[in-house]
Amino acid sequence: MLRESVAQELRHIVGERNYLDSREDLLSYSYDSSVEEAVPEAVLLPSTTEQISEIMKTACREAIPVTPRGAGTNLSGGTIPVNGGIVLALTRMDGLVELNREDRYAVVQAGCVNLKLQNEAKKAGLFYPPDPASWSVSTLGGNVGENAGGPRGVKYGVTRDWILGLKVVLADGRIITAGGVTTKNVTGIDLISLFTGSEGCLGIVTEVTVKLLPLPSCQRSIQAFYPRLDGASATVARIIGSGIVPVALELMDRVVVNLIEDSARIGLPRDVEGTLLIMVDGEEEVCQRQAELIETICREEGALDVQVSRSSAEEEKLWTGRRSAFGVVSRKRPTCVLEDCTVPVSNLVEMIRGIVAIGKKYDLLIGVLAHAGDGNTHPMILTDKRDKEEWKRVEKAVVEIFQLAVALRGTLSGEHGIGLSKKPFLPLVMNDDARKLMAEIKSVLDPGGILNPGKFIGP
Ligand SMILES: Cc1cc2nc3c(=O)[nH]c(=O)nc-3n(C[C@H](O)[C@H](O)[C@H](O)COP(=O)(O)OP(=O)(O)OC[C@H]3O[C@@H](n4cnc5c(N)ncnc54)[C@H](O)[C@@H]3O)c2cc1C
Repeated sequence: MLRESVAQELRHIVGERNYLDSREDLLSYSYDSSVEEAVPEAVLLPSTTEQISEIMKTACREAIPVTPRGAGTNLSGGTIPVNGGIVLALTRMDGLVELNREDRYAVVQAGCVNLKLQNEAKKAGLFYPPDPASWSVSTLGGNVGENAGGPRGVKYGVTRDWILGLKVVLADGRIITAGGVTTKNVTGIDLISLFTGSEGCLGIVTEVTVKLLPLPSCQRSIQAFYPRLDGASATVARIIGSGIVPVALELMDRVVVNLIEDSARIGLPRDVEGTLLIMVDGEEEVCQRQAELIETICREEGALDVQVSRSSAEEEKLWTGRRSAFGVVSRKRPTCVLEDCTVPVSNLVEMIRGIVAIGKKYDLLIGVLAHAGDGNTHPMILTDKRDKEEWKRVEKAVVEIFQLAVALRGTLSGEHGIGLSKKPFLPLVMNDDARKLMAEIKSVLDPGGILNPGKFIGP
């Protein structure tokens, strides 16, 4: 519990109902979508940037740790208050501040849910490309915190590519803005890139200005089922080689397909090694031509069955399985450890085969989802954290998966961040001097080390 005089001061800033410290409330904010847990001393739900600035002034003076939090869907323990202190939940700051059709940008508060922004943009004939599979709940502040990606990343890139401006509260309560509303802006050091992906360790984002695009007039998806992974990988290589830039190029392995089918019964064939789900968009004629070419490539590379969407309802149906994947695998076992090692696309199949072999070696059920067009794998280890013997095997398997990714010239995370869970593995990809440099940058912005302490930067 915080000292009563400090608690009183914070209650005064956010209002009585936005200061939570009952046992039940604290437990509700003690976990996120990772397997980590720690209980905070208080949860604050501010509604303005100015309130956050006042909170930070108090926290800075009193040296109280502050963990910023959006929806808590991160998979790396980024919102776990390991050192206690305050969880600063931005979910009440969920407004759309401005949507400018002419200049094609939107300004949202950091707690705005990604899908809300998508829906508002759509009404104006525009769209916001980053689409993490968690988009129905994850917030723009959290997306910036993790530099989130999503299936559409192959064509449209990740969150950083779409941020024009940020409003940020620093550790001592100062409020700064970075960038603006223009698509071109090289005024000063690129502070947007500094804060994007910094996982709440450098400042608290309160407002995000994003670039929007005109909504493509047509979208088509192609789903193809392969008896062998090699056929799927040859298809990926040929599509990329053909000059088509698909919006999304997703892969699900046999384990994931079967778990989806167990749960959703949508008619996916169970005896396949790999399934590809590919999306193209643009003018109807171009879209149609690309979908036909992709269908031909899939068949030539040995796909058993190929389905092409012809309407938005069919489109929706094809994506139902993929979007429900995380939910359905979680029904199989109580704990799902979801990693996101990323390798060059040409090493993807080797990575997947390696993950399957590691699963066999440690007698673990591992399903693999991949944003195949980006080389971004999501091995999902289905386990039960309470089973201590099995958990030891999980820990060994995770180490080997990271080592494999690095050996294949890849990295620890393509989109989920390092947070708490992957902190011990950072030396595999960043040397001492690089990690020291990150700590030095943090110490300039947060000399007292109160912002999300214990995470990937510093001790
Ligand atoms: C089912 C499922 C599917 C997912 N699919 C994807 C996917 O396709 N692509 C992908 O990239 N990720 C995915 N994720 C991971 C996660 O959803 C993303 O990382 C998302 O961006 C987190 O948003 P959030 O609002 O939940 O943030 P949180 O989890 O609350 O926070 C994430 C990090 O950002 C920091 N943070 C949060 N808000 C702020 C703020 N306002 N200012 C500063 N720091 C802040 C936190 O301290 C934390 O370090 C998925 C997760 C789940 C559970």
